[in-house]
Amino acid sequence: MKKEFAVIGLGRFGGSICKELALQGMDVLAIDIDEEKINEFSEIATHAVIADTTDETVMKNLGIRNFEHVIVAIGDNIQASILTTLILKELGVKRITVKAQNDHHEKVLNKIGADQVVHPERDMGIRIVTSLVSNNVLDYLELSDEYSIVELIASSKIDGKTLIELDIRAIYGVNIVAIKRGESIIVSPQADEKICKDDILVVIGAYQDINRLEKKLLNNE
Ligand code: ADP
Repeated sequence: MKKEFAVIGLGRFGGSICKELALQGMDVLAIDIDEEKINEFSEIATHAVIADTTDETVMKNLGIRNFEHVIVAIGDNIQASILTTLILKELGVKRITVKAQNDHHEKVLNKIGADQVVHPERDMGIRIVTSLVSNNVLDYLELSDEYSIVELIASSKIDGKTLIELDIRAIYGVNIVAIKRGESIIVSPQADEKICKDDILVVIGAYQDINRLEKKLLNNE
């Protein structure tokens, strides 16, 4: 079943969301106040319309409430982003994702009931710094304030050791849910699986436990 999306604001972020949705075969309505943007996306999106989304009547006429998921990617104009979100909420759109420009903006969006608030520049910044400051962390996914899934590179310290020998779950309280080795991936590895240097370990657990594991076992120094 194709899902119906609407993307409001076709800047760098909204534009790439719109392109990716179209590539994945979804129906996308692209909306922007700027005619040039609409011309640019008319061939990419299923429909592209020029509209000021802070105008409730315009939004009603577009039938925006029938879309399953609306993404608000109005960047600099915070007022327009908030007003648009409020209108979408009032019209009863089921799922609204909004790009926040800063922490205050994010707070307001959460208060008025945006289902998902994203902060791509900040989040990508944190992601990049995390992998820059640690030699072992490749990537991570925040599950909550406490827990995350992290990809760590196995060091020579644990080369050739099995999971049972390392006893990671008992000692560190974290679980290795997968091991990536070159092109292959071992999901839910068995206790007798041997780790090789440069394997990528996909670890789930509390931040502090993963941190301990990284410092003790994975640091090459
Ligand atoms: P980014 O930082 O992701 O590049 P921009 O701020 O450059 O975001 O782009 C936001 C887009 O939102 C612009 O194309 C702009 O024309 C559009 N936009 C701004 N206000 C409105 C509005 N009231 N209704 C519809 N589109 C809007």
